[in-house]
Amino acid sequence: MEDTIFGKITRGEIPTEFVYEDEHCVAINDIHPQAPVHVLVIPRKPIAKLSDAADEDQALLGHLMLAVGKITRQLGISDAFRLVVNNGAGSGQTVFHLHLHILAGREFDEATLARGIQG
Ligand code: AMP
Repeated sequence: MEDTIFGKITRGEIPTEFVYEDEHCVAINDIHPQAPVHVLVIPRKPIAKLSDAADEDQALLGHLMLAVGKITRQLGISDAFRLVVNNGAGSGQTVFHLHLHILAGREFDEATLARGIQG
């Protein structure tokens, strides 16, 4: 896959404050937040989109989910957040390096689910 801005961020080539980091992923504040808390969890391994993940990525995908738990507890939002993954340009994905959006601090309900991060 082509390199992206998230590749440069995860490799430390663009100085960015990490909300969280470990050996497999980093978390950063979204530059255009759609909620009072809008954090992106980005694996260090570049995978263009979720549907490109392979069987060998099973542990990494589980790791990202557990990282979401740690990050949301760290931020004090573990009781109420929305997790969004855009997959493909038609879904609104603009950066083709897998990332998870954590959104919190505003109202979310079923009616807004289809609107994802803009909900
Ligand atoms: P997506 O539309 O799912 O690909 O999400 C990409 C997200 O990355 C958008 O919410 C952007 O606001 C965010 N974004 C793009 N560049 C940066 C950056 N340099 N630092 C932080 N967030 C960024």
